[in-house]
Amino acid sequence: MDKCSRCGQERSGEERFCTNCGADVSVGKTGIAGRWLAGGGCLFALAPLGIALLTTPIGGNMFSTGGDGGGAALYFMILTLPLGTLISVIGLILWLSKRKK
Ligand SMILES: [Zn+2]
Repeated sequence: MDKCSRCGQERSGEERFCTNCGADVSVGKTGIAGRWLAGGGCLFALAPLGIALLTTPIGGNMFSTGGDGGGAALYFMILTLPLGTLISVIGLILWLSKRKK
């Protein structure tokens, strides 16, 4: 027997919203974690792009690895892109497998 994560009301597991407090119970704790993983993985994968943008001075070339650009940060994407994508995919699978209908 599942319980509502907000008010603790017992539920059959069929309904999408809690019959007591109306909370969305269609996605369980694992599903919520999956959703966070999916979003976090995406952010993680693209983080070096943001760092490169932020560390590049105006007028500089963000793809340059010289002194005038933040291009060095882009090298981290070799690591973060596959890792972030992997985290994202795991999160999505968790999320979708826990989502009902
Ligand atoms: Zn409830």
